[in-house]
Amino acid sequence: MAVRVLIVEDEEQIARFTELELKHEGYEVSKAKDGRTGLSMAEEGGYDIILLDIMLPELNGLEVLRRLRKTSDVPVIMLTARDSVMDKVSGLDSGADDYVTKPFAIEELLARIRVALKKHSGVEKEDDSTVLSYGLLKVNTAAYSVTYDGNPIELSKREFDLLSILLQNRNIVLSRDTLLGKVCGYDYFGETNVIDVYVRHVRSKIDEPYGITLIQTVRGVGYVIKDE
Ligand code: CA
Repeated sequence: MAVRVLIVEDEEQIARFTELELKHEGYEVSKAKDGRTGLSMAEEGGYDIILLDIMLPELNGLEVLRRLRKTSDVPVIMLTARDSVMDKVSGLDSGADDYVTKPFAIEELLARIRVALKKHSGVEKEDDSTVLSYGLLKVNTAAYSVTYDGNPIELSKREFDLLSILLQNRNIVLSRDTLLGKVCGYDYFGETNVIDVYVRHVRSKIDEPYGITLIQTVRGVGYVIKDE
């Protein structure tokens, strides 16, 4: 079955060119010209990947992404007009999978689409299996239970979510903002250092009693669980 792509882009020329190239590669393509239409099309579902411009009429791309992430984990590649570091950082923090800077070469976009789709299908497989393992640590995401070498560990809901997200994204450094969005919800208004607090709790319940290093701090960036 063809991969379905939604292009949310107000610049007609870019949208048209991208559509033609993607169709030529065998993708099925739909388009939206403003953020509001793009969001409602994306929310209806049925797309395998979304290419999302940032500067859009009605609702900007970052806002579209923030709202979409409440209900969907469809891969999203942001299209940034300028080489703006801030846009990229906010995009990735809001849950974008990748970004390309316009004007882009179609080969680069195609490569990034393939990577995002591949990464996503890997994550889905991990989501399906309800037990995440890390050495002697077993995290059952269906039963919300954690054991180390068979010994039960009591975690709060948010500590549990934090641990599962880091295990599912092994070797990927997640920023405090990203973790905050995933653990507390994107409309959470509060200090990002609550994440530091949850990390401390997890460490005191797992790392310290069992003498292991699970969650690593990446100074100035965030946290990561690396392969054993
Ligand atoms: Ca635009």
